[in-house]
Amino acid sequence: MRNILEKSEWEWIEAAIEAAKKATCGRSKCGSVIVRDGNIIGEGYNSPPGDRESRRRCETEKSSYDPKVTDRTCCVHAEQRAIMDALRRNPDKVAGSRLYFIRLDGKDVPKRSGDPYCTICSKMALDAGIGEFVLWNDSGMVAYPTDEYDEVSCRYRSGRKHS
Ligand SMILES: [Zn+2]
Ligand SMILES: [Zn+2]
Repeated sequence: MRNILEKSEWEWIEAAIEAAKKATCGRSKCGSVIVRDGNIIGEGYNSPPGDRESRRRCETEKSSYDPKVTDRTCCVHAEQRAIMDALRRNPDKVAGSRLYFIRLDGKDVPKRSGDPYCTICSKMALDAGIGEFVLWNDSGMVAYPTDEYDEVSCRYRSGRKHS
């Protein structure tokens, strides 16, 4: 993991924020963009599968939400969407790309993510060949090599600080 200090990187965080504003999940608003060679090759936000309201589970599954069991979360995650989008639109550019992730509060203001815990997204990013996973947490704006991100996510234990 390394800290990202270059101001130029924030351009991509801004793009992820714009994506997050479109999120329709009832629990959280998250956005993600995937960048390769200075271009956005995929983006996503969290919402019900297929953006179908009929598939909306945000309220009904709220009580059963457990960060240890990430496949019980209600919506398709922003990172999953961004990876699928990149694979659809730019399949040859995904390997070695960088994924940026941001979470917004109820007023569309970015907030820090907790420690990585979502093994659905970490496995998918690793399998797709994403090179680095960037997010904003208590250490600042940090970039994890994707294999490290997956390791950290798999080691996550609930009860630790998490937002
Ligand atoms: Zn939801
Ligand atoms: Zn996830």
